[in-house]
Amino acid sequence: MNQNIENKSAEELLKWAFYEHKNIALASSFGAEDVVLIDIAVKINPDVVIFTLDTGRLYEETYKVMEKIREKYNIKIKTYFPDANEVKKLETEHGFYSFRKNIEARRECCNIRKVEPLKQALQGLDAWITGLRREQAVTRKDLKKVEYDKANNLMKINPLADWNELHVWDYIKKNNLPYNKLYDKNFTSIGCAPCTRAVKNNEDIRAGRWWWEAPENKECGLHLNKNK
Ligand code: SF4
Repeated sequence: MNQNIENKSAEELLKWAFYEHKNIALASSFGAEDVVLIDIAVKINPDVVIFTLDTGRLYEETYKVMEKIREKYNIKIKTYFPDANEVKKLETEHGFYSFRKNIEARRECCNIRKVEPLKQALQGLDAWITGLRREQAVTRKDLKKVEYDKANNLMKINPLADWNELHVWDYIKKNNLPYNKLYDKNFTSIGCAPCTRAVKNNEDIRAGRWWWEAPENKECGLHLNKNK
């Protein structure tokens, strides 16, 4: 079965996933992979549930592409926010850039602004769909196209797991998709504004995320594989 799944194209896998799982949603941070995934998914299922996590620290360019996508496909995007009291406590007690102090402080911020809202978004679902790719990071090299997400107790579908960067951009250009304009300024992976910068030519694509941390730590907690 695994080999069967692995051989499926992104479109075939999404068709299978929509058939297999009635309570399924697509998670999007509106990066390059996400706009590709939304295009493929909406063409198969115009009613696909799409959600995003608004951490409160996103770039303006990210909101702009969210809006363009919303208008292009005439879709609703379910938005989840961090708990206001938790953010108030975090900023009051530790300041506005606590995540720069050490990895524990960074994970605390990611936990409040991303991981907890994700748990809300996943409530009642059997499966979620992501735009993760194996090539993106050392932390993602063993990614499967379909895997059990133990941390959240549901299935996780990664239709673009075997796509490379060229393939993603080729799809965007051919289909004339809206994309985050920060990519035109040498950004290669886009998250919260204070934790994302442009990369230099010789740097890898995740180098601009939490650049003060070691590569093996560069996950916000949304995609930690706790199966091992
Ligand atoms: S990416 Fe940075 S600002 Fe965003 S939630 Fe994580 S630590 Fe906080």
